[in-house]
Amino acid sequence: MSSFLPPGSTLGILGGGQLGRYMAIAAQQLGYRVAVLDPESQAPAHQVAHQAITAPYDDPEALERLASLCQVVTFEFENVPASSLEPFARRGVAIRPGPQVLAICQDRIAEKTLIGSCGIETAPWHPIRADRDIEPALADLGGAGILKTARSGYDGKGQARVESILAARQAFEDFGEVDCVLEGIVPFALECSVLAARDVHGRCVTHPVCENAHSRHILDVTVCPARVGEAAARTMRAHTSRLAEELEYVGHMAVEFFVLRDGRVLVNEIAPRPHNSGHLTIDAAGHSQFEQHVRCVLGWPVAPYGQAAPAAAMANLLGDGWVAGEPRWEALTDFPEVRLHLYGKARARPGRKMGHLTAMAESVEQAQALVREARRALFG
Ligand code: AMP
Repeated sequence: MSSFLPPGSTLGILGGGQLGRYMAIAAQQLGYRVAVLDPESQAPAHQVAHQAITAPYDDPEALERLASLCQVVTFEFENVPASSLEPFARRGVAIRPGPQVLAICQDRIAEKTLIGSCGIETAPWHPIRADRDIEPALADLGGAGILKTARSGYDGKGQARVESILAARQAFEDFGEVDCVLEGIVPFALECSVLAARDVHGRCVTHPVCENAHSRHILDVTVCPARVGEAAARTMRAHTSRLAEELEYVGHMAVEFFVLRDGRVLVNEIAPRPHNSGHLTIDAAGHSQFEQHVRCVLGWPVAPYGQAAPAAAMANLLGDGWVAGEPRWEALTDFPEVRLHLYGKARARPGRKMGHLTAMAESVEQAQALVREARRALFG
């Protein structure tokens, strides 16, 4: 099959959350049809898709149906079971990014091994496959670390900070003794991410570095450009391109970094999809991360990122802001520079990503102040 799919073809998306929704909208703007598989009937992407299939990700009939509808399939999250891709491979549907990307990025041990093999630093780490692995690993890390399940973790889930062998053993048992990694605790000065898009011809572009502040392990506010030295920024962008190449990546991805006080950078993890920190590209980069993703997976050349303003900021709107009732939407009318994005989720839950705010300004401080103040007014 040719790697280029003309408008009128159908893009299949596994996962119908906000990332899938923005992918669907971007594909539709380019004249493609979109079919989405998600277990929830009211999923954000189902609301905009041409075809919405409501079923679990491992439902063989639903996967066959999606595979029969689309010419290329992509996914909005990395925990898609490998077996779910088989119907697509069997029917000759292009899987982008490829199955090798999922195999590596859904397993922290494989991912960190790949990063290390590129000569790129991560936090010090050890694989933990059995209880006996814990003691020497923790001793090597100086007696404290973060135990993370090798698979299926996100937003701090499947993670425990441990400061004794007893605590590490308990956490390993609580995780069901599945494969884990034990990582050293990194005294980072900043957390950053680099967005990258790579097309079927191997051309790769990276976006200026984003700086990310988390709250309770969930992304809270992103500003761009990150307040890091030029050398650190250049290194992070180079590492990201290198990893995209090594993965033979097609689509949009993000690499999360820890930046140390001395400017050294360590890779935290690779997100093989558009990323929450990239939401500001919708308003600030000319070609959003979602447009880049669908361009690449549909066989178009990657586009250069633009920069609509010297600085941009994004603040997440979590379900916590809904606990006392509907947010004070009218308060946003006092902030004409701030853009509201909502994902169409009917039910709010604490920690659930409901939408975000973005602003552009002359400096990151101004942009950040705008989104933070607007969010305060909204949740008042
Ligand atoms: P992750 O799911 O691996 O991205 O981790 C979620 C968050 O936990 C990160 O964004 C960091 O804020 C924190 N974290 C994860 N690993 C480490 C580490 N090795 N040292 C310090 N903080 C960490």
